[in-house]
Amino acid sequence: MAGRLDGTVALVTGASSGIGEATAVALAAEGARLVLVARRRDRLEALASRIGGDAVVIEADVTDAAQAQAAVAQAVEVAGRLDIVINNAGVMLLGPAEEAPYEEWERMVAVNVTGVLATTYAALPHLLSAAETAERRVADVVTISSTAGRIARAGSGVYNLTKFGVGAFSEALRQEVTKRHVRVGLVEPGATVSELRDHLRAPIRDAQAERFRTMEPLEATDIAEAVVYMVTRDRRQAVNEMLIRPTEQE
Ligand code: NDP
Repeated sequence: MAGRLDGTVALVTGASSGIGEATAVALAAEGARLVLVARRRDRLEALASRIGGDAVVIEADVTDAAQAQAAVAQAVEVAGRLDIVINNAGVMLLGPAEEAPYEEWERMVAVNVTGVLATTYAALPHLLSAAETAERRVADVVTISSTAGRIARAGSGVYNLTKFGVGAFSEALRQEVTKRHVRVGLVEPGATVSELRDHLRAPIRDAQAERFRTMEPLEATDIAEAVVYMVTRDRRQAVNEMLIRPTEQE
């Protein structure tokens, strides 16, 4: 059966688990050739075998701008083009400012902001070219932000900063390139089952686990479906933003 993304190449950062992994699977099911980027090569290799076909595995740490940019260059070299970029890699290291290890703040800025900037910067010329020359005549950048990119809360200040930040960057970039049919969108998930909370310090992780017990959270596949919806619209239609919360999340 023909997929809606047949002939396209899609790069997903943070494809080794959670939302990125589910999104890669969903895009592949629509016919896209996948470029899987993250640090855990073994996970990416396993995913590539699951997806089948000609998925490309690239081990890279997106906090290093040179590595993120090299990943994009390698993707284009191997796959010949780039139509879709999903800026998904992220970390959420919550906790009050007063007791936070400063290294956690630096890590959030490095992954959630530098990673998005470096990947997008390197991808942009290829996306503009795809939108101009490819049969689909449209290209997509989707960044996985968060409800935390819309509402700031105590204990989440730096995570909020990074997600508000990528929201601002996306909107400005959208205005710059939308007339050339590069769509720049944001998906803002609420609480979703993934490995995101495994990196929290113990008391904060426990509080988050308790929060998860009081509601039915989203599945990573719910977010993957939203991404697929965005990137499979006709070229006349740009879905700029999707905020998706568990129904029970206040
Ligand atoms: P996971 O922890 O399951 O996935 C995070 C992914 O990011 C992993 O694949 C990880 O791969 C990758 N990653 C982390 N650091 C780096 C790095 N330095 N370089 C390259 N890749 C990196 O969490 P989620 O799937 O939940 O997170 C995906 C996105 O969704 C994040 O941006 C997060 O902020 C956002 N989000 C998640 C929500 C949730 O409740 N789960 C809610 C709102 C937003 P590896 O370790 O192999 O490098």
